Amino acid sequence: MIKIKFLGALSEVGASAILLKIRNKKFVLDYGIKQTEKEPIFPPIINYFDAIFLSHSHLDHCGALPILIKNRNVPIFSLEINKYLTNLLLIDTLKIAKEENYSLPFSKKDIKQTEKCFAAINYRETLIFEDIEIKFFDAGHIPGSAMIFLKYDKNSILYTGDFNYNDTRLVKGCDKEIPKPKILIIESTYSYKDHPDREKEEKRFCEEIKKVLENNGIVLISAFAISRAQEIMLILKEHLNKKFYLDGLAKQVSKLFLKYSNLLKDKKKYRKALKKAKFVKSKKERKKIVNESCIILTPSGMLNGGPVVDYIKMLYKDENSALFLTGFQAPETPGRKLLEQGKFIYKDIELDVKMRVLSFDFSAHAGKTELFKFIEELEPEIIFCVHGDYTIEFAEELKSKGFNAIAPTKENNLFKF
Ligand SMILES: [Zn+2]
Ligand SMILES: [Zn+2]
Repeated sequence: MIKIKFLGALSEVGASAILLKIRNKKFVLDYGIKQTEKEPIFPPIINYFDAIFLSHSHLDHCGALPILIKNRNVPIFSLEINKYLTNLLLIDTLKIAKEENYSLPFSKKDIKQTEKCFAAINYRETLIFEDIEIKFFDAGHIPGSAMIFLKYDKNSILYTGDFNYNDTRLVKGCDKEIPKPKILIIESTYSYKDHPDREKEEKRFCEEIKKVLENNGIVLISAFAISRAQEIMLILKEHLNKKFYLDGLAKQVSKLFLKYSNLLKDKKKYRKALKKAKFVKSKKERKKIVNESCIILTPSGMLNGGPVVDYIKMLYKDENSALFLTGFQAPETPGRKLLEQGKFIYKDIELDVKMRVLSFDFSAHAGKTELFKFIEELEPEIIFCVHGDYTIEFAEELKSKGFNAIAPTKENNLFKF
């Protein structure tokens, strides 16, 4: 018998966590947090389990791992890079909590214990738990991201985690030869729309950069530290080939990607792109570099902390400069508020932003067309739609096309087969 319990990412993005019981074995698929304006929200605690399978290192998938691991010794299977990426993110989460003056239900010691529990697995390598087989497939979302395939008797489950069907500059799209599962658990982030044409979006981005530089302004690009900043680096190299400043957590992540360059689409291009980066090493240096027209690439992606806040404080009045947002802006984040109200509202700061603010779509998720294409190729018997604001609508649309689809909710989250 198989039991699937969805603990998070139900009709929303955040706190992805699934508990899977296959015969007498219990597995956890991802265990992330939901980021809010203030303190993060954690999924419910699980008391007993045999192993964790982690799809990738984004906080909504890995951010709650330390509370699950506390004083325990349970393996976290994932691609090796995730041991280091998750660690960087968790330490950063602890730092932010300290700065923002709230407490987290885990400590540095718990993060260390979490790091120890990581067990490396490669794509397409088979892991065996008695008569249950587990395989990780490339999800094409960020370096080291995986879809998790589990097989037991005549049953099989594929959990997509976050995935991208098409290539980006940084990574190739997902594996196209995944075995057909009976049960598919699919992310639904962009089930309601398609992304703009990537090439056109890149050109628009670079044209806007040129305009700002021609006016002697500063281009401040905010990006997620993991993957988005590196994708932007590659775009800059391809179209502009100019030096730029790189700040914050994106520096360590960029160096780590060099070490795991086998996970990248083009190692050589990546190396060349990174060579154009000048690392900003201190707050003092930040003050110095804004005296001249330049490009600055820095986290955080939604303006909720990170060096980007320092730069906004220095540049918000400058009409010749511009702030470029390069990712999804979640509701209630300073990035979303800035787009809606023209004001930068963060902690006790409220600034009338005079610099231009533009937003671009460089998403690493499959768009609507690709989600349907992926499902049509796999022909699953049952589909669970999770990780999206419109999972209910997505399931309805799938049903109208003849699929058996369900959007689990808080009230309806346990399924048996
Ligand atoms: Zn992700
Ligand atoms: Zn996610």
